[in-house]
Amino acid sequence: MENVIILGTGCAGLTAAIYAARANLNPLVIEGVQPGGQLTTTSEVENFPGFPEGVDGYMLTDNMRRQAAKFGARFESDRIDSVDFSGPVKKLVSGTRTYEAKSVIIATGASPKLLGIPGEQEYYGGNGVTTCATCDGAFYRNREVVVLGGGDSAAEEAIFLTRFASKVTLVHRRDKLRASEIMARRVVEHPKIETAWNSQPTAVLGGEDGKVRALRVKDTVTGAEREIPCKGVFVAIGHKPNTDFLAGSLPCDESGYVICPDNSTVRTSVPGVFVAGDCADHVYRQAITAAGMGCRAAIEAERWLTDQEA
Ligand code: NAP
Repeated sequence: MENVIILGTGCAGLTAAIYAARANLNPLVIEGVQPGGQLTTTSEVENFPGFPEGVDGYMLTDNMRRQAAKFGARFESDRIDSVDFSGPVKKLVSGTRTYEAKSVIIATGASPKLLGIPGEQEYYGGNGVTTCATCDGAFYRNREVVVLGGGDSAAEEAIFLTRFASKVTLVHRRDKLRASEIMARRVVEHPKIETAWNSQPTAVLGGEDGKVRALRVKDTVTGAEREIPCKGVFVAIGHKPNTDFLAGSLPCDESGYVICPDNSTVRTSVPGVFVAGDCADHVYRQAITAAGMGCRAAIEAERWLTDQEA
């Protein structure tokens, strides 16, 4: 049986792995479908302390991984489908095996939400629909693109895309952005950004080349439908925590974020089960805050294991 199993290899999971490994807990880290987490879809990270010139997102997490491995963390590539936290031995079940541990740190992060409208899946990836401007923006040089959403993510993506696109249309279902005031002002004042207010996307439309040619939107006030010509559709309507596999075993709120009943923000309601990063934090959602939670979760796990032995 493992002392501690860490689920996830974003900033939170890898920081937990560094701390748990240095505490001689010999942690097993299970990396899922997106090793390195959301930072691997970012090109330059400018706000992680210690890197005044910025740092490549992939390099940052790869360095964390190597740091954890140096202190003895072991890595396994697998996808956990369900858990059983009902007894003192925590069980994590994948398609091929069941892992057993005294303690668990859940750091499975969050994934971008999609709208579920016709054409969205069909053109997802290389054919025009994406959720990551920093990954795919450069493919839309001198093209018209749309960004969907009205929060800080949408504002950030729209401003970033002005570096490449000939025109960016921000499509929002209301007539006011949810984004912070400074970001909203940058969007509204930017000469390359047009806003489509009160516009609910209803379909992504493709051309004969099999790629996106337009977005269809419905006016939420008049009900009228129209098409916005574009080559790229950037969906930025928020994130969903990757916690479905915890259903029935660990309390989560209605959005799927793991609930921590006390002020620790890393101790869950099951003794010996800890949480870190975007699967529990819907407020800050930063690389540095995820790393901080990973550190705290590992320290809590170490203390909890020590208490069990006493
Ligand atoms: P968010 O604040 O939840 O905004 C999601 C946006 O998508 C909202 O404008 C929402 O519309 C819209 N939306 C959601 N579902 C929709 C649907 N089915 N159809 C049409 N529109 C839909 O998400 P976020 O922008 O990802 O930000 C999440 C958190 O991260 C926030 O706290 C944000 O401040 C933070 N963040 C910070 C930064 C930064 O500081 N640089 C950058 C990114 C994110 P409504 O407004 O009508 O609800």
